[in-house]
Amino acid sequence: MSKSIDNKNKIAIIGGGLTGLTAAYFLSQKGYSITVFEKSDKLGGLASTDEIANSQIEKTYHHIFQTDTKILKLIQKLKLAHLLRWENSSMAIYYKKRIFPFSSPIDLLKFKPLSPINRIRTGLVIFFLKIFKNWKKLSSVTAKEWLSKWNGKQAYKVIWEPLLKGKFHKYSNQISMAWLWARIHIRANTRNKTGNQELLGYLEGSFGVLIQELENQLSQNGVKIKLTSEIKSLTSKKCNKVILQSNNKTFKFDKCIATVPSVVFADLLNTNKYNYYINNLKDIDYLGAATLVFSSNQNIGDKYWYNINEISFPFLAFINHTNFIHKSFYDRKHIYYIGGYFPHDHEIFSKNESEIRQIWFTSLKKIFPQFDETQIHESKIYRFKFAQHIVNNSYKSKIPKYITPLDNVYLANFSQIYPEDRGMNFAVREGENIANIVAIDM
Ligand SMILES: Cc1cc2nc3c(=O)[nH]c(=O)nc-3n(C[C@H](O)[C@H](O)[C@H](O)COP(=O)(O)OP(=O)(O)OC[C@H]3O[C@@H](n4cnc5c(N)ncnc54)[C@H](O)[C@@H]3O)c2cc1C
Repeated sequence: MSKSIDNKNKIAIIGGGLTGLTAAYFLSQKGYSITVFEKSDKLGGLASTDEIANSQIEKTYHHIFQTDTKILKLIQKLKLAHLLRWENSSMAIYYKKRIFPFSSPIDLLKFKPLSPINRIRTGLVIFFLKIFKNWKKLSSVTAKEWLSKWNGKQAYKVIWEPLLKGKFHKYSNQISMAWLWARIHIRANTRNKTGNQELLGYLEGSFGVLIQELENQLSQNGVKIKLTSEIKSLTSKKCNKVILQSNNKTFKFDKCIATVPSVVFADLLNTNKYNYYINNLKDIDYLGAATLVFSSNQNIGDKYWYNINEISFPFLAFINHTNFIHKSFYDRKHIYYIGGYFPHDHEIFSKNESEIRQIWFTSLKKIFPQFDETQIHESKIYRFKFAQHIVNNSYKSKIPKYITPLDNVYLANFSQIYPEDRGMNFAVREGENIANIVAIDM
């Protein structure tokens, strides 16, 4: 690509998560001049990693499914396929002071908190959601209404309500059945034919390896990456220039792709114009997330994933990562996550780290009385403000378009993914889509 074309087509990308990095990768391959602005001091956003037990690990638990074709294709393209591992997953439910295995249809049939008839009914509901494809029919009904009706009151109370309440808190009764359908449909279809075993994917060395390789490719393609560069405002001028403000500096670009959450994007638009559009963006509610990652000498539990089906518990999931990826990758330490999603006004965002540790470890001890804090080597807490958007029955009408009302400004973020839940696979899909759209407009 000639230098004159580079100079003509300057594109800013706001946000160095997987959506922004994928967009930068595909556009820079076409020879455009790209600058990525990232608020934090590291790339990767919600999928970013940190060091624990001399290895990189995601700040929030991550795995992929065999149906995640877009990210699998990118892993292949970046020549990282040799690092991809498919491992058996295993799951359990903690309910009324007991742990119940919950990985297979047999486990469901033995799940004592439900009556035998409701165990069969739950199996049939999951099977129906696996084969049912016409999800649009589910978009105007809430998960609460649909599951209470078809799975019955007992299964709703024991299985679904704790999951919905634990994850969505005050929004739990609003969640669309179309959203839950997508979660179950995708997951049920990643199982083997008998439905007995689920395989989950992970990259040796963490998904940070993918982010690092994207960064390497971007550097080779001449992309400028500006870390600790929060964009504070964005204006689109009649002269076809997009003006960005960051760190008291002004930058001019021909085009701009924002990959930040919709509400963050709305706050960047310093204008009285487009009120309808901006209010629509602000109408998308988000939950934050918090996780505690720790390494320990102690092996706690024999499953990978524990759903906490107790509404009174302060977290949603306990994850024994080294029951998924072997501890030999982590200096032979066991690696764990405690975590969940929380509304912005939740105390988790105001408490200090030692208070969070105390509350969460006290509860973990109730599940695993043998849990011994003195065996812990390292522990770290992470908090993210925009981790999950609320997909309610009216959500479809709120989904913002890629092309915004501002000239030469585009938006690509996980609030546009529907009915599927956000995920790295869809971030890659959104990044590639927006790169194609912008390239056509150049
Ligand atoms: C607890 C949890 C568990 C998850 N588990 C999985 C999983 O198992 N599998 C899976 O596939 N996915 C999982 N995900 C989802 C996955 O991490 C996300 O879908 C994906 O990383 C989103 O990428 P993104 O680039 O769209 O958004 P983000 O990662 O949110 O990236 C946006 C970026 O914009 C930056 N930014 C924000 N404001 C500004 C500003 N003003 N200026 C400059 N930069 C700014 C942010 O710092 C961030 O880096 C999980 C997410 C969470 C929270």
